[in-house]
Amino acid sequence: MEDKDYYKILGVLRTASEEEIKKSYRRIAMQSHPDRNPGNKEAEEKFKIASEAYEVLRDPEKREIYDRYGIEGLKGTGFTGFRGFEDIFSAFGDIFEDFFGMGTSSYRQRSRSRSGADLRYDLKISFTDAAFGKETEIEIPKSTVCEICNGTGAKPGTYPTHCPNCRGTGQVTRAQGFFTISTTCNQCHGEGKVISHPCKECRGVGKVRKNKKIELKIPPGVDTGSKLRIRGEGEEGERGGPPGDLFVFLYMEPHDFFSREGDDIVCQIPISFPQAALGAEIEVPTLNGKKNIIVSKGTETGEIFRIKGEGFPKLRGYGRGDLVVQVIVKTPKNLTKRQEELLREFEEGSRKKEKEGEGWKKFF
Ligand SMILES: [Zn+2]
Ligand SMILES: [Zn+2]
Repeated sequence: MEDKDYYKILGVLRTASEEEIKKSYRRIAMQSHPDRNPGNKEAEEKFKIASEAYEVLRDPEKREIYDRYGIEGLKGTGFTGFRGFEDIFSAFGDIFEDFFGMGTSSYRQRSRSRSGADLRYDLKISFTDAAFGKETEIEIPKSTVCEICNGTGAKPGTYPTHCPNCRGTGQVTRAQGFFTISTTCNQCHGEGKVISHPCKECRGVGKVRKNKKIELKIPPGVDTGSKLRIRGEGEEGERGGPPGDLFVFLYMEPHDFFSREGDDIVCQIPISFPQAALGAEIEVPTLNGKKNIIVSKGTETGEIFRIKGEGFPKLRGYGRGDLVVQVIVKTPKNLTKRQEELLREFEEGSRKKEKEGEGWKKFF
């Protein structure tokens, strides 16, 4: 690193304010930005030197050291300039964002950015909510960018500096015989940066854990095992990487009376022996209130009646399942004298009839 005049490079006076320095750097960076000058070595060099100058002059601490001792003095702080574009974009990422309005070109994407992890949340819902859908709110603990330091981890007004141990590379190399061995720097854990004045809010991590409220729209027809995916509500990405997604796993609680088979709702309704024999109109509960069904004459126990469209809405496609009513014939108990008499009479009558038509006895 030869001696350069950072003020000259940025075209500002030694007394320039932070705002003036930023403005000037912005102008030079705009002109010489590698996205606008592909393959232009001269512009590339200009862009790098200006970035280096800005890196020093924007930081009051570094600027003071530079003013007093020049570049030699900065070396004592571990400052090494930038190795390449990726370094520049990772250092000034947010600035380029407001320079260019959107993203910071492919360079920043490559700079060790990582997408955030997906999150999982298990949610119990009632049988009725599964049928009709529901809008609800859940709260998930989630790490979000620290608002105090904007995620840099450094106390406001200060900046992370290049790690002196690895000179900002994140890797430490040492020679062993013929070999050079690279290991992750243990001072900065491979980040290449150290924070000498950590943000008090996040203790230098750049993120804080907070409960976040998230509105959920549960569509009608969901079942145990259904998943809702809420894009972008997972953990935050790192270094400009995209956030992960939130997956809500649904569990439908059982109902006291109904059960579920696919999109059908199943229930059992007891009917009396005379109702089964003579036929009857009976009342059955549905999710939409009571409905009547006609049980035909001579209905057997276990027989099934369907009410079309009274089941769950189909999640995929149109329409709804059915309400499947299984009738169970109850054997009468605790008969009165009169009832017993009537039943005996009934039995007598039945026997006479059977003698005429029952062929099954021949098998014995
Ligand atoms: Zn913070
Ligand atoms: Zn390091």
